[in-house]
Amino acid sequence: MKTIAVIGGGITGVTTAYALARRGFEVTLFEKHRYAGMETSFANGGQLSASNAEVWTHWSTILKGMKWMLRSDAPLLLNPKPSWHKLSWFAEFIASIPRYESNTVKTARLAIQAREHLFSWAEAEGIDFDLKRQGILHIYRDRKGFEHAAAVSKLLAQGGLPRRAVTPGEMRAIEPTLAGRYYGGFYTESDSTGDIHKFTHGLSRACERRGVHCLYGQDVREVRSDGRSATVEVGQGAGRELHRFDAVVVCAGVASRTLAAQLGDRVNVYPVKGYSITVNLLDAASQAAAPTVSLLDDETKLVTSRLGVDRFRVAGTAEFNGLDKNIRADRIKPLVDWVHQCFPGVNTRQVVPWAGLRPMMPDMMPRVGRGRRANVFYNTGHGHLGWTLSAATAELLGASVEQALGDREAVPAGALAA
Ligand SMILES: Cc1cc2nc3c(=O)[nH]c(=O)nc-3n(C[C@H](O)[C@H](O)[C@H](O)COP(=O)(O)OP(=O)(O)OC[C@H]3O[C@@H](n4cnc5c(N)ncnc54)[C@H](O)[C@@H]3O)c2cc1C
Repeated sequence: MKTIAVIGGGITGVTTAYALARRGFEVTLFEKHRYAGMETSFANGGQLSASNAEVWTHWSTILKGMKWMLRSDAPLLLNPKPSWHKLSWFAEFIASIPRYESNTVKTARLAIQAREHLFSWAEAEGIDFDLKRQGILHIYRDRKGFEHAAAVSKLLAQGGLPRRAVTPGEMRAIEPTLAGRYYGGFYTESDSTGDIHKFTHGLSRACERRGVHCLYGQDVREVRSDGRSATVEVGQGAGRELHRFDAVVVCAGVASRTLAAQLGDRVNVYPVKGYSITVNLLDAASQAAAPTVSLLDDETKLVTSRLGVDRFRVAGTAEFNGLDKNIRADRIKPLVDWVHQCFPGVNTRQVVPWAGLRPMMPDMMPRVGRGRRANVFYNTGHGHLGWTLSAATAELLGASVEQALGDREAVPAGALAA
């Protein structure tokens, strides 16, 4: 049986391990935390949103970013201090603008494929992740935003996703708890929400049941490949261990760029920071006043999801500031203020703040498939849509590994003397 190392135990690593185990590979998953789904796949916006497939590689993103640069409460924030990584990333981002339409269509297709895998895996493995299939409502305060969304709807339709324009009256009928005045909205009935951490954890347990060796608390220091076998080094000093495999898959989120460089590949993932708050709905009045339909507010760039009866998640903002995970009070406040404005009946006495780093490629398209060496693979760089897309990209990756390793001889798995 061919042996494969998967590096990273977030949503992409765990879905990859699962897809490979189902294909009969002997899989070892390395994760530096003690549990799966503890980094970016911990407290995100929760949306399984084909309707959010629009890539950001559009001149309007650049213009908004420049306008917002000096406002600390702006949805998009760029630390102007230059770094080679940031400059090269933005240069590639701009170079990808001509592919805005085709990449949006491709992303919508991928998101639709992902749904079926994710739902069927959750059902087969008995994973409860607070799934809510009540659709996603995009809300617009002005005509300009609404008209841009109408153009995006045409691209989504090309990708196979129907969504319909709704009037303010229809918006109120879809989500009666939403306060405020709106120009209009777009409703995607087929979209859904769920808790990414619960799902990742549940699927990691399913991986173990299927024979995946899940090695937690293992910080991968170095990864090498000669094209036929791959070595993964963990630990330090006397505790250093070397493991050998037939192939390796890098799913390390924002660390993928560094690991890829060790393998001779360039995977230009940039960490795009975002924040979330989880409002604990402690009383019946707050539970009734919080929405059950998921929302995307295009002006503030915030998304929401209702997780079970007593949790309401609000997430968003994009910060370009390197590998910084600090939670800033002035970035959390606009999220809490937004809850007060849109859902005045929700008590925000107990709010849990969080920050995570989106592993984002400059063209906003995940890197899925083989690297330069024949036994090196990537499933990473899913940016703002990793929860939505991972089940589909894991399946694609599984198929590509199967095709590549199909008829090669196996290298025995296990720890080697360092
Ligand atoms: C605020 C916010 C809101 C979001 N909302 C949504 C949403 O509503 N819908 C959606 O689809 N997506 C959303 N996303 C995006 C989504 O959360 C991410 O795309 C996804 O979680 C990335 O998963 P990942 O597995 O690539 O990375 P991670 O979850 O970060 O996993 C990578 C793992 O690799 C491990 N690792 C790294 N280096 C090493 C090493 N050397 N050795 C061992 N282990 C290592 C890390 O510990 C980590 O566990 C949001 C993101 C943010 C920040």
